[in-house]
Amino acid sequence: MVSTTRCLIGVGSNLGDRGAVIHAAIEQLTQTSGITNVVLSSLHETAPVGGPAGQPPFLNAAITLESSLPPLETLAVLQHVEQQAGRERHIHWGARTLDLDLLLYGDAEFDDPALSVPHPRMSFRRFVLASAVEIAADWRHPTSGWTLAQLWRHLHDSPRIVVLLTHDTTWASTLAASVQRQLHELPEPPEFELWIRPPTWDSGALRPRLIVTGADEPQRVTGPQLRVRRDTLAEAIEDVAAAIVASHA
Ligand code: ADP
Ligand code: MG
Repeated sequence: MVSTTRCLIGVGSNLGDRGAVIHAAIEQLTQTSGITNVVLSSLHETAPVGGPAGQPPFLNAAITLESSLPPLETLAVLQHVEQQAGRERHIHWGARTLDLDLLLYGDAEFDDPALSVPHPRMSFRRFVLASAVEIAADWRHPTSGWTLAQLWRHLHDSPRIVVLLTHDTTWASTLAASVQRQLHELPEPPEFELWIRPPTWDSGALRPRLIVTGADEPQRVTGPQLRVRRDTLAEAIEDVAAAIVASHA
């Protein structure tokens, strides 16, 4: 018997006949050799997060499937399906006919520019978890140690506090000020507090909505976390601002 790995895929479409595009992708995945047991969640309409202003709304969904292909080949299948849907990669975080992200590949953890799993932003994105919990609630997200159901609940139950957990208070202050300014310009700015704390900070019973650390700093074992590089400030500002919107919508 061929061994297979269960995969979770995040689906997004905000151009063209979005529902038809997603159903065509399911059909194509089902017919791909090495891919079996394709299950689609229901489709959720969501407002775009991050990226250029004025994008049309997304239709988001999640897919579970079994893959007998290794991780990069599984991603290549997804990229092929994206291309068949007419996706052109021009603008970072821009509008797209179809986006398929490999969120989880079993309980594998690796961080490579070509493929990071778990997907680095899945643990705090409402538009990802809302669909994923429908078909994979008990799956344990290996980096945070929480199930998808726990991650999803956390986005509703936790205080609206984002903690920059870093030894680099100069960087954190600049980042915090820029993020606050950027989010304040939104038509409906999210409500949240932004705290700066050292890596040794003991959160006690308080479980902040999101923890942000430098990519080179120690990782917290539980809960949703965003890791950002400290040497590219503009990128960090974009990433943190988008993460706050995605976790506070
Ligand atoms: P995004 O989904 O962030 O808008 P793209 O879909 O255009 O961006 O993907 C950009 C790159 O991200 C791809 O070249 C791909 O190799 C890389 N990548 C890294 N990790 C993943 C992942 N878990 N799923 C999908 N693509 C990934
Ligand atoms: Mg993608």
